[in-house]
Amino acid sequence: MSFTVAIIGRPNVGKSTLFNRLVGKKLALVDDTPGVTRDRREGDARIGSLKFKIIDTAGLEESFDDSLEGRMRRQTEIALDEADVALMLIDARAGVTPLDKHFANWLRKIKIPVILLANKCEGKSGEPGLYESFALGLGEPIQLSAEHGEGMGELFDALLPFE
Ligand code: GDP
Ligand code: MG
Repeated sequence: MSFTVAIIGRPNVGKSTLFNRLVGKKLALVDDTPGVTRDRREGDARIGSLKFKIIDTAGLEESFDDSLEGRMRRQTEIALDEADVALMLIDARAGVTPLDKHFANWLRKIKIPVILLANKCEGKSGEPGLYESFALGLGEPIQLSAEHGEGMGELFDALLPFE
């Protein structure tokens, strides 16, 4: 039985980088410019023997109007509707931002299972955000480096129950 995973989080935390790593192809556009992934991308992901469908989303913003932020928010809602589990990314080097907190509060209300990923944790660079992220109330974060492929074993273990 296959399952579906949505990668969510505010712009620039590394969602598309993780998507590309898990799919093994550069299907999603990675860019320093926040919000560059404006539409949803789906792919067949794999970590070791674990296979699943993955959805990359644009970031959720607080805006409810028809702005870019509003459309990105709706994309995230659609992705979560299809997903069995959400991977919520934060940029551990940047620390936990107000938008991360907003995201976390919103996710807890939806009641979808959430795995918290503290990205950009290569070396010790992510430590401040790592400790702050415990306060999001989404459980213990997995330390990850989407760019360098670190933390994939822990992510495998966390996703295994959804198979
Ligand atoms: P998105 O907006 O959440 O999809 O973020 P992107 O995947 O487009 O990445 C935003 C920026 O963060 C890019 O410059 C990436 O190269 C960088 N990035 C992504 N993952 C990592 C990581 O694990 N470590 C570091 N240092 N940078 C990363
Ligand atoms: Mg992106």
